Amino acid sequence: MLIQVAEGVLVHQSNFLQTNAVVVQGRAGVLLIDPGVRGDEMTCLANDLRELGQPVVAGFSTHPHWDHLLWHAELGAAPRYGTARCAATVRDRLSDPGAKARIAAVIPPDIAEQVPLDLLGLITGLPAGVAQIPWDGPQVGIIEHQAHAPGHASLLIEERGVLLAGDMLSDVLIPLLDLNDTADPIEDYLAALRLLEGVAGDVDVFVPGHGSIGGADQVHARIDQDRAYVHALCDAEVLSDPRLDPSAYGKDWLPGVHERQLQHLARR
Ligand SMILES: [Zn+2]
Repeated sequence: MLIQVAEGVLVHQSNFLQTNAVVVQGRAGVLLIDPGVRGDEMTCLANDLRELGQPVVAGFSTHPHWDHLLWHAELGAAPRYGTARCAATVRDRLSDPGAKARIAAVIPPDIAEQVPLDLLGLITGLPAGVAQIPWDGPQVGIIEHQAHAPGHASLLIEERGVLLAGDMLSDVLIPLLDLNDTADPIEDYLAALRLLEGVAGDVDVFVPGHGSIGGADQVHARIDQDRAYVHALCDAEVLSDPRLDPSAYGKDWLPGVHERQLQHLARR
């Protein structure tokens, strides 16, 4: 089911970690950002778009993690993009023959069989410094940073007042730092939050990669919540973050990730 969040901007939410696929209507079809996770959800989305008479004319992956790199043949063969750094990371990680088996092994077993990996990661990197997604529709500005994954992009559709945060500003996931690809993951995360804060005044609605969609009144609270988590992690403070509630469905792994982030940073 597609939900309209702003004029010409629709969201298709997965029941896997509340993953949000975003559709932006253009002149001759739609831009599809992070299409979804399960095959049946992507075919459902493809059917919805067909009924609306809206072919997919471009795709975009916000970052090089499997749950943002999927695609389904029913969505067609439009060009799919990511930042240069995102695409280079995908190319690198998929370069050996065992790559897809490794990815399959990290997908939660209850959905693994429903996740089609054949079209995973077939994205073209936009040249470094390209500020907009090239397509025939409302301008979609790329806010690139290195917070959660190499070449992670949040997207701003200024004329619609919409921020697509990628895997930032989630109410269901704590900030998941990129501990492997960057020298200072804390500062990279804080810098990314400053970038999002810089555009928050233009935002009427924001869509995180996972979790609840929020309005203008919530964007600063989400930024502050992420920043508080990162500061607490950095200072090894005890923290009570509602997102770490292990009883929440599908998130029993999250406290373990939190522990690993804490230990990794303590070793530095
Ligand atoms: Zn994700």
